[in-house]
Amino acid sequence: MRKLFVFLLTIYFMSTAVNMYAQSVGNVFTFKVGSFELTLLSEGQGQGNKGVLVGATDEMLRKYAPDGTFPNATNAFFVKTPDRNILIDAGYGRNLFDNLQSIGITPDKVDVVLLTHMHGDHIGGMLREGRPSFPNAEIYLPQPERDYWMTEGRGQQARDVIAAYKDKLHLFQPIEAGGQGKPLIAGVTGIAAYGHTPGHTAYLLESDGNKLLVWGDLTHAMAIQMPYPQVAVTYDVTPEDAVAYRKKILEYVEANKIPVAGMHIAFPGIGAVAKDAVAGGYVFIPATR
Ligand SMILES: [Zn+2]
Repeated sequence: MRKLFVFLLTIYFMSTAVNMYAQSVGNVFTFKVGSFELTLLSEGQGQGNKGVLVGATDEMLRKYAPDGTFPNATNAFFVKTPDRNILIDAGYGRNLFDNLQSIGITPDKVDVVLLTHMHGDHIGGMLREGRPSFPNAEIYLPQPERDYWMTEGRGQQARDVIAAYKDKLHLFQPIEAGGQGKPLIAGVTGIAAYGHTPGHTAYLLESDGNKLLVWGDLTHAMAIQMPYPQVAVTYDVTPEDAVAYRKKILEYVEANKIPVAGMHIAFPGIGAVAKDAVAGGYVFIPATR
């Protein structure tokens, strides 16, 4: 009888643990990169529509998006290193603060924010009521991205973020994928991924010989752009550059077996890139626990 009771109690706690787990994976997912811990912070999952694709043929759509839609998401990422709390992009600011709270991080504990570019789904969480959301953070912004937004008449939201963080802003020049350059901070290098916006930048994380590339908006429609990297999207500022950098970076991560994380990759937003030997192009293999 006593044994049965213990057994039932175990089942009860196990099912509770499973429920909590299911809730926690709804919005966050954690992945180790050496001594770094990368966490996906989901701002939402959804379906994108073929109307945003530029250069997708009917045949491509029949094969990879037969109903005219594809899985999509908006993500930010958090990186815990042995000495810093790093946020990579700030999403819309929708689930961001609750997601951070769920991993024990209050906004004042964020030491560094790395921005891939300054579209609203990446800088939405940077300000709250016009004030910096991350009062103690140093902000890293690619110089060409800053220059693009500061040109007369461009997005007010980007200008507001630049102004609010002006004393904390570190402008830098990204390096080319595979090139040599000084890290921005220990274990973090900015990699040029231009085209989606003129300064769009990926961040290479390196710890204890392990690497991972957080590639921002290198893709918006994984289902189509992995097999066909030549397909662009309507919100690419310079589609030809976006295509060229997508091809270059896919080649680089595949050849070097570097896992990737993306701001518009469906949950868990992290995985590996492999060549598709049969169909051509690439496939994405989502990370599992
Ligand atoms: Zn985006």
